Amino acid sequence: MRYYSTKNRDKTVSFREAVLKGIADDGGLFMPLELPKLSNQFFETIEQLSFPEIAQQVIEKFVEGEVPQKDLENILQDSYYFDAPLKQLDDNLSVLELFHGPTLAFKDFGARFMARVVSYFSRNSNREITILVATSGDTGSAVANGFLGQPGIRVVLLYPSGMVSEIQEKQLTTFDGNVTSLEVKGNFDDCQRLVKTAFQDADLTTKLRLSSANSINIARLLPQTFYYFRAYAQSKKPHGDLVVSVPSGNLGNLTAGLFAREMGLPVIRFIAALNANDVFLKYLRKGVFHSQAAIPTISNAMDVGNPSNFERIRALFQKNHAVIKQIIFSESFSDFRTREAIGEIYSKYGYVMDPHGAVGYLAVQNFPKQEKPASFHGMVLETAHPAKFRTAVEEVLPIKIEMPNRLKKCLVKEKKSIPIPNKFKDFKELLMYI
Ligand SMILES: *Cc1c(COP(=O)(O)O)cnc(C)c1O
Repeated sequence: MRYYSTKNRDKTVSFREAVLKGIADDGGLFMPLELPKLSNQFFETIEQLSFPEIAQQVIEKFVEGEVPQKDLENILQDSYYFDAPLKQLDDNLSVLELFHGPTLAFKDFGARFMARVVSYFSRNSNREITILVATSGDTGSAVANGFLGQPGIRVVLLYPSGMVSEIQEKQLTTFDGNVTSLEVKGNFDDCQRLVKTAFQDADLTTKLRLSSANSINIARLLPQTFYYFRAYAQSKKPHGDLVVSVPSGNLGNLTAGLFAREMGLPVIRFIAALNANDVFLKYLRKGVFHSQAAIPTISNAMDVGNPSNFERIRALFQKNHAVIKQIIFSESFSDFRTREAIGEIYSKYGYVMDPHGAVGYLAVQNFPKQEKPASFHGMVLETAHPAKFRTAVEEVLPIKIEMPNRLKKCLVKEKKSIPIPNKFKDFKELLMYI
């Protein structure tokens, strides 16, 4: 498969190059030249396949000629020792739990695969790779966890000071070994800007072998298609008209869903479920895109004012606003409504949902009646374990949330981070000399 840049469709690169570069030389994001349709047979027998087996069939064409079958199988087996179970709440509503990985959020699916692919492609090189990760909360820990202990790789994490939960901060700052955490005085967009600027800085790109690991890396995005197929495999037959609600920030998760749909997954409509950060919703309504400063909310992994994958969605549909609007519906919800929803889901279904998933739930509940297909089935992606956002959830529910063991372990460790201003000059200096 060849990959083009969203800024120039004519110049393409291999999968390897797209992964190791992270971002194209012209600053665009890599996109696969095509999204191969999966066979009918695949869909007919999908219930019998395990997660890694589904993944293998989905990803094959994207890595063809560059990762042999056997190596691919190893990478997938090693990445996915956990599953994405689908929980049926009632006949028309289900929840896809994406938090069973090591860092309790869906980003483990992309991060683990990417880490293994990057290591695979650099196994014969003696130059260390520096992975830069800007995180609004969950990305950093997932990526760092994926790369932990991998030889020849170091990870530099940037997170916005004071804008991630206490637990997230612990997860981001308690790594040993090849991970350095930078606490940036600014917001997520500042972190993202610092990373983007680093890639365009000649001194840095000469001295270091830089790669990115945000959802902008194509090796993080492609594996996020896997769980959409896995969800379909578990959904009740007949499948109904699936409407999938994706709690969205940087729009990576949604973009992967759109890829899956292009590959043949029968989803009628996607919902971009948003918190107060609603630039994408405004784009859908008005046809023009304006970024804005990120607004802090209780679903903070979605506090993004300039979602990078927007470019990919536009590229996927040849910038056709009408088509994009037809496939994606969007709605934005306040923290107040999000809290209400956490309470409602608990009292109605006895299900404990985190604030991100709750925004997804609200979006399904508010899907306009006149647009509902006859056999509507709403599927909400639960993107994080509620324990990760325990404070927000326990404020609403009359219960104490049990901490999973993998989370307890890092809570007792001491925070290790380097505070930096949001100026590129300081970031650059640090990168050159740490
Ligand atoms: C990252 C994240 C999101 C947003 O996903 P995008 O791919 O950035 O749109 C939603 N929920 C949680 C818990 C996350 O960590």
